[in-house]
Amino acid sequence: MEGGRPLAEIVYSQVCKTYEHNGTKKKKHAGEGVRAVKDLSFTINDGEFVGILGPSGCGKSTTLRMTAGLEEITAGEIIIDGKVINHVTPKDRGIGLAFEDYALYPPLNVYDNIAFCLKAKNVSKEEVHQRITKIAPLMKLEDLLDAKVASLSGGQKQRVNIARALVRNPKVLLLDEPLSHLDGKMRQTLRTEIKRLHHNIQCTTVLVTHDQMEAMSLSDRVCIMNEGFLQQYGTPDEIFNDPVNLFVANFIGEPPMNLLQTQIRKEGDKYSFTFKDTNASIPMPETFKSILKEGNEFVLGIRPTYMDVVHDDNWDARFEVEIFENLGEEKNVSVRLGDNFLTVMTTKDIRFKKGDELRLKIQQKNLLLFDVKTGERLRPAG
Ligand code: ADP
Ligand code: MG
Repeated sequence: MEGGRPLAEIVYSQVCKTYEHNGTKKKKHAGEGVRAVKDLSFTINDGEFVGILGPSGCGKSTTLRMTAGLEEITAGEIIIDGKVINHVTPKDRGIGLAFEDYALYPPLNVYDNIAFCLKAKNVSKEEVHQRITKIAPLMKLEDLLDAKVASLSGGQKQRVNIARALVRNPKVLLLDEPLSHLDGKMRQTLRTEIKRLHHNIQCTTVLVTHDQMEAMSLSDRVCIMNEGFLQQYGTPDEIFNDPVNLFVANFIGEPPMNLLQTQIRKEGDKYSFTFKDTNASIPMPETFKSILKEGNEFVLGIRPTYMDVVHDDNWDARFEVEIFENLGEEKNVSVRLGDNFLTVMTTKDIRFKKGDELRLKIQQKNLLLFDVKTGERLRPAG
């Protein structure tokens, strides 16, 4: 952090990780090895905040541990500052690490816990003091430096954990699920503090989380993984509005995106999306004609907030209401379309009961089409 901003671009180039010994120890899988990370390629810019997001077991922690040097890289390269670090020892990578289970030393106070890792590095007492004095206020620990860590709350322990990573003056800060042990309100508070911290120190930061809210709210870009593969890497806006496949479309968003099995019907020169066991349909935008192929089966995706409830004749589609939920500010109206439900979310002051007619104006540019078989997004040409 001294002498201006450090440079720390991180490049992952076809990175793979196979664990030779299967952690589950099940006989059936013995000797097979676990392919935890598969051909991972993406770049984190200097100073960027990137969230690695995905379900449990998708390879997030493995990616972080390879970056830190705690796991060997089976194939490919990780490059920090233009230098391949595959064989650089962890302490020479310029990395600060904070894991979910803050392994603090309970008999020591906060100050000594933060100072601990510097002792081994022969940093002078004055320098240690200087660094801790600078970092403590960033993590709101200045009044807690004499407290024994055993007496701290979960949130405070996690702050000490992060401070301990920062005191090494890292070029790169790696955080593995730092908020997952905390309760709702504390999570929210610390999330805001991590954001503020990043604004202050501008250190390249990689956050691993399975919580989409956390990744989307904190990150400049989000890297979504599933089963060891990178699915999509983009800004929260791109991930939300322009998902590359069904996995991403389904994983991001609360309430989730409506994903509806659909058949396309042609009447004259008008096309529409139709659904099994119902007469209801949604008009298809002209632009989609270019991607229709004979015999293809499709999934239509539309987010609950990208349809407007209307009461006049200016509607695109109308349905029969199945479920109405009043959540206070937000209301969810659901209709049944074959095997699926289509849910609309609105903040309008509306009331429905089962069997009522629901008229919708549909934001055509936000209709997404996916190939049922491959799960890939189908984009109109041009
Ligand atoms: P995540 O952090 O996304 O939950 P991990 O990177 O921890 O996932 O794990 C990815 C896969 O690798 C999982 O299938 C997990 O069981 C396996 N795995 C993780 N660590 C080991 C290990 N030390 N030995 C064997 N398999 C492991
Ligand atoms: Mg993990």
